[in-house]
Amino acid sequence: MFDLIIRNANLPDGRSRVDIAIGGDKIADVAVGIEATAAEEIDATGRLASPPFVDPHFHMDATLSLGLPRMNRSGTLLEGIALWGELRPTLTREALVERALRYCDLAVSQGLLAIRSHVDTSDPRLVTVEALLEVRERVAPYIDLQLVAFPQDGYYRSPGAVDALNRALDMGVDVVGGIPHFERTMSDGAASVEALCRIAAERGLPVDMHCDETDDPLSRHIEALAAETIRFGLKGRVAGSHLTSMHSMDNYYVSKLIPLMAEAEINVIPNPLINIMLQGRHDTYPKRRGLTRVRELMEAGLNVSFGHDCVMDPWYSMGSADMLEVGHMAIHVAQMAGIEDKKKIFDALTVNSAKTMGLDGYGLAKGCNADLVILQARDPLEALRLKPNRLAVIRRGKIIARTPARISELLIEGRPSLVDGSEYAPGI
Ligand SMILES: [Zn+2]
Repeated sequence: MFDLIIRNANLPDGRSRVDIAIGGDKIADVAVGIEATAAEEIDATGRLASPPFVDPHFHMDATLSLGLPRMNRSGTLLEGIALWGELRPTLTREALVERALRYCDLAVSQGLLAIRSHVDTSDPRLVTVEALLEVRERVAPYIDLQLVAFPQDGYYRSPGAVDALNRALDMGVDVVGGIPHFERTMSDGAASVEALCRIAAERGLPVDMHCDETDDPLSRHIEALAAETIRFGLKGRVAGSHLTSMHSMDNYYVSKLIPLMAEAEINVIPNPLINIMLQGRHDTYPKRRGLTRVRELMEAGLNVSFGHDCVMDPWYSMGSADMLEVGHMAIHVAQMAGIEDKKKIFDALTVNSAKTMGLDGYGLAKGCNADLVILQARDPLEALRLKPNRLAVIRRGKIIARTPARISELLIEGRPSLVDGSEYAPGI
């Protein structure tokens, strides 16, 4: 007798019509035709059951602040940073907590149950850190929230940033951040990478830096980050976020850089929605895409996971907490439309991101946490195409969100009366 059994689910690895039995907060069994009963059963009717979506790169202190105190007129990264600088002194803990909790509601409804959020430590009041530490605790029953100490205005460029970052870590922030391309010089950027990796090594923490988020083909901070990762013994614990300059780098240089990144076991976190929106802004035509070299990095064996980065904030006016929207953009911008490509993109929104965040008990195997989402789609490829409704979101064995299937009524004589978009792929 189990607590919950999900019947007839398709899994991301291609298994179909599988039953998932849940006992307490763990997955007790995954097999075809489990002969047992449960207090509650869900018939997935051949829809996809996936481990929850994981966002490894977000800014929860800025989310849902769109229009405060004004809109970003140029649409650039730099005006976004300036705009955030105007808003920051007016932030209160209460308002930050309220916005973050509202975002987490949206995230849960989309089956997004783990988020790594950067937290700006530039304001010496550290009200952002206080607020998000409170949020981390309050959402813990339903979202794994990991926080990164992020010196948005530069670790060396902004007075007081060194002290503030250390205080944030003392307060319990989980990860050491950085922004070397925003320091005054390339050498200051490299020095910040060294200093921040040293702090991480001393404190036993992971690292996740905004790194080379420019179109500058000569930006070299990912090289420094990989080298310091190896030097400080941080292999596998360091993430390079964005890495957009790699799009513009010389190919010969990249042929040396990618093996170095692989040796350092760097976790790569592109943010396709933001990168395609913010990069290439100084170009006329042709305009660069600015997404890092996703296919090449995956082929070199690096762990690539995609972040949402922003939702309705000074940098990005759109977004919906739907990681499939992120993957949908990645397929287009990285030009990865093959069947195996799309499977890799789906992994980048789930298992790869969980690896980046170091989540324990993640997955759909026996013994894993009973966390999963059932989608109105048959398989990962269809999920990426449709960005479908999340029929059920389960956390530690309990259903925490439900959405009805999206079915349209058709009022045309001689044609079907109901249209379910998830039934239209050839071969289904
Ligand atoms: Zn970011």
